[in-house]
Parts: sequence; structure tokens; C-alpha cells
Amino acid sequence: MGFSLDLFFGKIDDSFICVICAQVLEIPVESTCEHIFCNQCIEDWLAIRSTCPVCRISMVRNLKPAARYFRNLLDKLERKCDYESSRCSSVLKLDNFADHINNHCVYNPNSKKTCDKGCNTIITRREYETESCFSHLSKALKKLEDKQVEQAKFPRWQLCYNMNISLSEPNILEYAQWNAPQE
Ligand SMILES: [Zn+2]
Ligand SMILES: [Zn+2]
Ligand SMILES: [Zn+2]
Ligand SMILES: [Zn+2]
Repeated sequence: MGFSLDLFFGKIDDSFICVICAQVLEIPVESTCEHIFCNQCIEDWLAIRSTCPVCRISMVRNLKPAARYFRNLLDKLERKCDYESSRCSSVLKLDNFADHINNHCVYNPNSKKTCDKGCNTIITRREYETESCFSHLSKALKKLEDKQVEQAKFPRWQLCYNMNISLSEPNILEYAQWNAPQE
């Protein structure tokens, strides 16, 4: 499924539009008959049919990524943010969009940021707004435990490194060590 035309400015060239979903191509792939579709759209199409949606020739699943020059042109298209309705006015090239929405968009409650209230862990903006550093650290520790990282005898630097916290934060370190799993 491609990107909604409403997210773009002005008229988009037909070559960037997927004939299956009628939206701007997402992860474009090319068939042997040289037609280009969203990867997901053509996979879904071929699950129930065996002809090209454009030229109708018989088509086995033999797709390859669209040519690099084509993807580069597509990546330069500018789109609005999904959070435009909640005031994000960022205009992004397609290839920068994932980074924006995951790491920078201040209107996306699930985008990541480094906590500057003391714990220095990487958390979502929602966690930043609604939770204390104690909770941020607890989650970071829980993640470490889930990964079953080397227990108890963890070197101090590695604990800091994994939690993305600074060695110069003694209180946090004490908390972290106190809470580290014992053998
Ligand atoms: Zn599509
Ligand atoms: Zn075709
Ligand atoms: Zn945004
Ligand atoms: Zn915090």
C-alpha cells in the first residue's frame, strides 16, 4: 500500500503512482515486463492472480527492486508528516521520512528521544511526558534482563554502554547496580 496522494504537494507524475493502490509507490519493485508497483501491492495481487495488472501478460513472481535512478527520483519527492493534523509542519523528502517519524517528530508520541531529565536513556516521547526517570530506568533494566545479557558480573562500563547512560552519573549507576540481577 503506497502513500496517500493527499500527503504530497501538487501533481505527482504518473510514473510514481502504483496502478494497484493508486497511491505514491512504497518500496517500488519492477516486473520482467518493466512495470513498477509497491512491493506489498503486487505481492497481494499475485497471491490471487498470475497476470500483470498493467499489460496483462502472464507473470510469475519474478520481481526485482526498481532501478536505482528511479528510486532516487522517488526518494526526492516531498511529503507532509503523518502528524500534520496535529500541527507538524515538517516537509520531508521520502528517504528522510522514516527518520523523522521515528526519531524527530515531536508530535508522534512513539518517536524516540534521549531523556534529558537525568536518566539519559532512549525512550518514547510519551514515556518522556508521562513517566519519571525511575520508570525509564526500570524499563531499560527490564530490557536488559529480557535480552538475558550477561548477568550480575557485568562490567560497569558495559552496563552504562547498554543503557546509554553516562559514566559520570553516580546515582543512576548505583541504582542500576543495585537493581542488576544477582547470580
Ligand atoms: Zn501500491
Ligand atoms: Zn506488465
Ligand atoms: Zn512530524
Ligand atoms: Zn528519564
